[in-house]
Amino acid sequence: MAFFQALPQVPAMPPGQNDQNAWNMAFQNGWIVDKNQPLTHLSFPDKVQMSPPCDKGKAFTFSRRMVACPLTRNGPPGSVPDGKADWWVNYFNVNTLGYAKRAWVQGHLLNHNVHGPGVAENLVPITDALNRIMEKWAESVIKAEVDKGRILFYEVTVHWLAGSPSSAIHDWIGGAQRHANDMCKNLDGHKTGECMAPTSLSWSAFEIAWDGKQWVKGLPLVFRGLQGIENFSYSNSFNQ
Ligand SMILES: [Zn+2]
Repeated sequence: MAFFQALPQVPAMPPGQNDQNAWNMAFQNGWIVDKNQPLTHLSFPDKVQMSPPCDKGKAFTFSRRMVACPLTRNGPPGSVPDGKADWWVNYFNVNTLGYAKRAWVQGHLLNHNVHGPGVAENLVPITDALNRIMEKWAESVIKAEVDKGRILFYEVTVHWLAGSPSSAIHDWIGGAQRHANDMCKNLDGHKTGECMAPTSLSWSAFEIAWDGKQWVKGLPLVFRGLQGIENFSYSNSFNQ
């Protein structure tokens, strides 16, 4: 004997938001906080590959960009990093690798407090210092706005800029490998694979609204002070 519960109405939303099955699953899993808001949609549109010159023959894929659009109160709970990313296991997990010159962490691109999963696609190797700064300057602001019921576009971009002239910033695919090569050569006391850690992260967000046909851009979210920050191991190394 099956019991059927009435399905909640899906708000009129863009493709992917009208998926009754996805909505029903989210509803039954308790992911819907506000029935008038759409489901959070997360994507990782840009990827880069890097081969660390200090460990020949290996190649690693990183997300270069995270886009949460829309980012709302509705969505699965986030999770802490699962520790399974190949770059983490091989090079950055200082606890198991037995050295801790730099305190690396698996930094979320979309924070676990706003639906960010702790899987490789949503993680990059950053220092604990950068992670804390990002929590304070970006993620806490984003979470507060989402909790208020705002619907956001939120984007985080990862930069690998060592070895590239600033004029080549648009060539982010080639730039990632140049970065690894340059860091491997020039980063003092560098441990195997650390040359793949990014130079910096940047973030931006604005409010969006559904006009019946498409998302339209609203007011930008103003972050006090910081909208991007360097990965401190590198700034420290270069300043020594
Ligand atoms: Zn290296």
